[in-house]
Amino acid sequence: MLAVQEKVSTKKAVISLRNIKKSYQLGENRVSVLHNICLDIEEGDMVALLGTSGSGKSTLMNILGCLDVADSGEYILDNKQVSSLSAKELSFLRSRKIGFIFQSFNLLPRMTALENVALPLLYAGHRNSNELALKALETVGLGDRAHHEPNQLSGGQRQRVAVARAIVSNPAILLADEPTGNLDSKTTEEIMGLFHELNKQGRTIIIVTHEKEIADECRRQIHMKDGCIVEEGEKYAILDNS
Ligand code: ADP
Ligand code: MG
Repeated sequence: MLAVQEKVSTKKAVISLRNIKKSYQLGENRVSVLHNICLDIEEGDMVALLGTSGSGKSTLMNILGCLDVADSGEYILDNKQVSSLSAKELSFLRSRKIGFIFQSFNLLPRMTALENVALPLLYAGHRNSNELALKALETVGLGDRAHHEPNQLSGGQRQRVAVARAIVSNPAILLADEPTGNLDSKTTEEIMGLFHELNKQGRTIIIVTHEKEIADECRRQIHMKDGCIVEEGEKYAILDNS
């Protein structure tokens, strides 16, 4: 038991949330969506975020991904207080640290796979963006589809392009909001295989999902309900105890 505690406590939290609150103005009412979320995510972990629709998962992911900001509370990302950063610093941090993957792929339709993947590098002012984009496409097994546009690709291939775009800047953290929600079970397995590979390389991965099979593949499961974290489970800790 002591060994387990020691193992857990020596890991570094790459994400730390303290008392995160978020609300939205809906007409005359202010609706509270996240209530005092406290959460630590360890470096290199693979986490499933579960909960019914409307429980606040996407809101939380958007805050984690610095696409949105909390009303109050503390967010420490890789030892940096996110709330104290300027918009410019925040966008720099996001482009270096975080890759985002969405349910609907969010690829630009009139651009090739290569151009879609290269886009984050172009924004960041990279020189050899095409070379790196091609490497990322090869990593996801789509080197031979680099010059196809999204409508010439299957759903699974589109999502793999989106994964390539998310990893092209070599971020330490991948956030995937229902990444397999639009995919069949075989393609879902492929995408999960890719996430396992990326996790083995040391990346921290958080996946929002409704599917038990996917959650079971993750090392840790976090359940949300009505804007709160209601339950947590860590498979490895349980295994270590047995
Ligand atoms: P989930 O991803 O778990 O389905 P969301 O985080 O998308 O949940 O939404 C949580 C709650 O916040 C829902 O009730 C939703 O209607 C509300 N909400 C989300 N985004 C907005 C917004 N931009 N404006 C107003 N309400 C929002
Ligand atoms: Mg959602």
